[in-house]
Amino acid sequence: MKQRLLFLGPPGAGKGTQAQLLAESQGLLHLSTGDLLRAEVQVGSELGRQAEAVMARGELVSDELVLAIVRSRLQQCSGGWLLDGFPRNLSQAEALDALLLELGQPIELVVLMELDDALLIQRLLSRGRSDDNEGVIRHRLTVYREQTTPLISHYRDLGLLQAVEAAGTVEEIAARITTLTKA
Ligand code: ADP
Repeated sequence: MKQRLLFLGPPGAGKGTQAQLLAESQGLLHLSTGDLLRAEVQVGSELGRQAEAVMARGELVSDELVLAIVRSRLQQCSGGWLLDGFPRNLSQAEALDALLLELGQPIELVVLMELDDALLIQRLLSRGRSDDNEGVIRHRLTVYREQTTPLISHYRDLGLLQAVEAAGTVEEIAARITTLTKA
């Protein structure tokens, strides 16, 4: 079973749901930068204040902010982990590569969750989070296409990428991912 995983895919593909399930069943630390940022907004920290407006627009929070969050969590983590929502652009991916080299904890598998735009938008609209209105969703998909999709070839070139069809029931998709983690 792979111990250090990264989930990649557009907003609405179900990364959070699948990451949480897998992390629980395998005893991995689930690191979702989106969840961590929302928690900072909730408690009204300085970091949360900086992130709030950016997230509401569907833009990316600064690389420095998210990298600081990820670094502190990974430094404290002695077991396996699962990163969800990070990295989101090439400079974050390069910073992560450097951090993991420094920590001696290389990524073992990158799971790419793939789903059609129509289904993504449908799922996000039914979720109803504050940044899930149609205009912001379309913008998040554009940001994903422009900034995050270059990571697909980055990790494919490293021989780490496996794609999963993200349509179907939660259980069906979970089974597909579990198979990959055991390969
Ligand atoms: P989704 O998977 O639906 O895109 P997330 O919960 O992962 O939602 O992220 C919500 C928002 O949090 C993003 O639109 C962005 O503003 C911010 N965010 C999360 N992760 C990052 C990151 N790695 N870099 C920059 N911003 C991020």
